[in-house]
Amino acid sequence: MSELYDLIIAGAGPAGMTAAIYARRAELKVLLIEKNYMGGGQIINTYEIDNYPGLPGLSGMELATKMSEHVDKYGTERVQADITGLELTGDIKKVNTEQGSYEGKAVILTTGNSPGRLNVKGEEELAGMGVSYCATCDGAFFKNRTVAVIGGGDVAVEDAIFLARGCKKVYIIHRRDELRAAKTLQTALFACDNIEPVWNSVVKEIAGGDMVEKVIVTNVKDGTETELLVNGVFIAVGNVPNSSYIIGKKNRDELKEGELLLDEKGYVVAGEDCATSIPGVFAAGDLRSKPLRQVVTAVSDGANAVYSAEKYLVSLS
Ligand code: NAP
Repeated sequence: MSELYDLIIAGAGPAGMTAAIYARRAELKVLLIEKNYMGGGQIINTYEIDNYPGLPGLSGMELATKMSEHVDKYGTERVQADITGLELTGDIKKVNTEQGSYEGKAVILTTGNSPGRLNVKGEEELAGMGVSYCATCDGAFFKNRTVAVIGGGDVAVEDAIFLARGCKKVYIIHRRDELRAAKTLQTALFACDNIEPVWNSVVKEIAGGDMVEKVIVTNVKDGTETELLVNGVFIAVGNVPNSSYIIGKKNRDELKEGELLLDEKGYVVAGEDCATSIPGVFAAGDLRSKPLRQVVTAVSDGANAVYSAEKYLVSLS
């Protein structure tokens, strides 16, 4: 018979690592399942995190490393595995992975989200050949070259500022004439001489031979098309939940036993207590349906989820 954990934490971003710290401090028998060789999730690709209280200017990698060391300080059992499915009927919850199944009395799902796709011609064909979803990972390949960033949120603006440090020119192509990003980021963006906004424009096509050569944009106001000669295209148009392993429904009335309630975008529905539609199953961090996805809200979820899980575990005894 396999080992039975009090709590399985599925995902090791800031929410999952915080949950691990809180759960171990509560002396629960915990397993932390992580996809990559080190925890951190999306922040490991963030050049600088300037809004985590007390630690301004830290890189995402540094913050992730500190969190991971904190997890280890409490002797958390960790396993590196890809989660393939959940079995959530009954009192024992099962998390299936490519390496085998793990059983727990309670589960916290913290698998986060991933960059969304534009779904335009050339995007898939030229992925890795100039099309990128991670400026901090790939930006160095475009030193002294011209690139375009697509999107108007925090990530797009941060990416444009980061790329402008090494690139000759950076276009930021946004479908409206107003950015969604935080005002401090906008101020920093507009202070960069080599960043040119392309307003009210959507990408029609990314074109090139072996590598990206140009991006064709359509002005949404007057329908005109423009070709911008670029060597790289960085896509930052929001995220999609990492929930392919979750069986769920968007309509509560249609839920079958063991299925989770999801919102219209596929995020797991749960309130601030992180409790999902199934008792003993909690969702925390970017995977949870919520208005603001930040490192601070993820770590807050991790703590709340463990608090709720502890109450659930007490109710079992
Ligand atoms: P986001 O805030 O959802 O912004 C996505 C941007 O892409 C929006 O400007 C959106 O346009 C645009 N967009 C979406 N679909 C598009 C399409 N098909 N074609 C063209 N443009 C499209 O996503 P994000 O910037 O990736 O950020 C994700 C989350 O992480 C947010 O909650 C953000 O606050 C958070 N975050 C925070 C920080 C920080 O605090 N420093 C840093 C990074 C990320 P519209 O504006 O017109 O909708």
